[in-house]
Amino acid sequence: MVSDSVLESGNLSGRNTLGLTAHADRVVAITHATQLEQALTDARPFGPITVLGGGSNVVMHPVQRGTVLLMDIRGRTLRADDGGRVVLRVGAGENWHELVLWCHHHGLHGLANLALIPGSVGAAPIQNIGAYGVEIAQRIRAVHVIHRETLATNVLAPEACQFRYRDSCFKHEEGAQWIITAVDLQLDRAAPVCLEYPALKERLQSADPTHDAVLAGVMSLRQEKLPDPVVTPNVGSFFKNPVLTQEEGDVLRERVSDVPLFPGPGGRIKVSAAWLIDRLAWRGVEKQGVKVSEAHALVLVGCGAQTAGPWLSLAADIVASVEGAFGLTLEMEPRVLGLPEVVAS
Ligand SMILES: Cc1cc2nc3c(=O)[nH]c(=O)nc-3n(C[C@H](O)[C@H](O)[C@H](O)COP(=O)(O)OP(=O)(O)OC[C@H]3O[C@@H](n4cnc5c(N)ncnc54)[C@H](O)[C@@H]3O)c2cc1C
Repeated sequence: MVSDSVLESGNLSGRNTLGLTAHADRVVAITHATQLEQALTDARPFGPITVLGGGSNVVMHPVQRGTVLLMDIRGRTLRADDGGRVVLRVGAGENWHELVLWCHHHGLHGLANLALIPGSVGAAPIQNIGAYGVEIAQRIRAVHVIHRETLATNVLAPEACQFRYRDSCFKHEEGAQWIITAVDLQLDRAAPVCLEYPALKERLQSADPTHDAVLAGVMSLRQEKLPDPVVTPNVGSFFKNPVLTQEEGDVLRERVSDVPLFPGPGGRIKVSAAWLIDRLAWRGVEKQGVKVSEAHALVLVGCGAQTAGPWLSLAADIVASVEGAFGLTLEMEPRVLGLPEVVAS
């Protein structure tokens, strides 16, 4: 009975890491994939349907019309084990970092570089979470989904998910119709550690670090650089790093001779958005209770703002300034949900 899962309160301020005031007409907690078909049918008369994991990559407007589905499906099941490689099926509502630790403690490797990324397993494929030289796409074997309109279930192979840098089919048109219920991850008892990311390599200072050392290194680097959302409202990086063609990179280099360019996906060039923002002296700037972090120019932190408006306003100012100075359009990483209306108290 899905009606048991309709929560009495539509208050979502505790379910987004910016701590923003937000209220939904209806909130339904989904704890089993089998509830979804009924929940989606029941939600239709009430208007739009929004899916929410841990709320660590969203900017929520005060009003969420229709129904918000809280993805709380738990469960980790071993699907295959050949002694070296295993396939683990994980419910969309499992906490990502807890899963990383659990795998590590069971000698199942491949996820250590993605430690301490907040949020749920089901949201991880949406923007193909990545950190310290690893993306989740490298470990995904299949994504289990249900279609919001047709209610058809499907199991998508990695190629169908079209994973790219902080992007996947789930962010676009047809793909956005899928709700993720579980993810199959391939882990490896004998996987080598990944030390491609220079700052991590430097931190470990060992030619042959263990998986324990990599996990500890990633966690310490993150704890130094990124604010804890439990203490300081934030969504991690607020902007994606622009990805350019070689030609576009050359044009930028002519314009700004000291701009650092890095190898990007598919032979393209990645520009550090943090560097661009820093160069324009945004670090530490505060407007209406939102500030560009002193520690990391790519991170915006809350210092009093209660609604989405000030976050989006500062973000728009930064985008305009980078565009004016460098001719590059920064793309926001978090998704904006809901309507900018004031909630009646
Ligand atoms: C301190 C901090 C550090 C971070 N560091 C990183 C980092 O290093 N790398 C990185 O990639 N990200 C990072 N993030 C961003 C964020 O943690 C990830 O994007 C995470 O995967 C979001 O998970 P969530 O459950 O909170 O998603 P939510 O914020 O709840 O949702 C994000 C989007 O996914 C959709 N969604 C959620 N669950 C589902 C589902 N089951 N099916 C379909 N759609 C769904 C939502 O509708 C929304 O559009 C960081 C965030 C913070 C606060």
